[in-house]
Amino acid sequence: MKEIVIATKNAGKVREFAALFAKRGIDVKSLLDFPDVPDVEETGSTFAENAKLKAEAVSDRLQRPVIADDSGLAVDALGGRPGVYSARYAGEDKNDARNIEKLLCELEGVPMEKRTARFHCALAVAIPGRLTAVVEATCDGYIAEEPRGEGGFGYDPVFYLPEKGKTMAELTPEEKNAISHRAKALARLNEQWDEIMGETRRAE
Ligand code: IMP
Repeated sequence: MKEIVIATKNAGKVREFAALFAKRGIDVKSLLDFPDVPDVEETGSTFAENAKLKAEAVSDRLQRPVIADDSGLAVDALGGRPGVYSARYAGEDKNDARNIEKLLCELEGVPMEKRTARFHCALAVAIPGRLTAVVEATCDGYIAEEPRGEGGFGYDPVFYLPEKGKTMAELTPEEKNAISHRAKALARLNEQWDEIMGETRRAE
């Protein structure tokens, strides 16, 4: 394989994948290079299903190898919500501040020890004519009672890491990258790459 397409328009995500694949001599493209590919509806009920749906739809369309990711936050006291609805928890317009406000409101009165939560990341690798492979990783923490920190995005200001004594938004990008669900899933993809290529080949 000489080239792989990352099913995202997020330049930050593209850079993370490019760094990983550069070591393997594989060029990374993204949906910024293929602006005509339509958005894929995330109709799955798990992160893995949504990543697979996206990777397969884009791979079918482009007839090229594609990696897609899906991520989000699962809160134990809310039975795993917002889950696959993390981006649109407070409405369709993807507003981080309103999502956080809704989350804190739903958790009002829940004591700290019951505010356990985890970020999930699923990565799917779809190659035309082969079986799709999925790797997943999580990052555990607690939902803080109020937002703290300016870094990161999404739910980072209320995602508290007891081992750091900080929220995810108070970490430097390097610190977040050492522990995040996305970084761990990327590391897992890297570790399992040869195996994944072997398995998908056997399915031909
Ligand atoms: P997506 O997989 O990039 O569409 O992300 C889904 C949603 O999950 C985001 O809009 C955020 O609300 C949340 N999310 C995913 N990863 C993170 C993270 O690292 N920090 C904070 N929120 C995240």
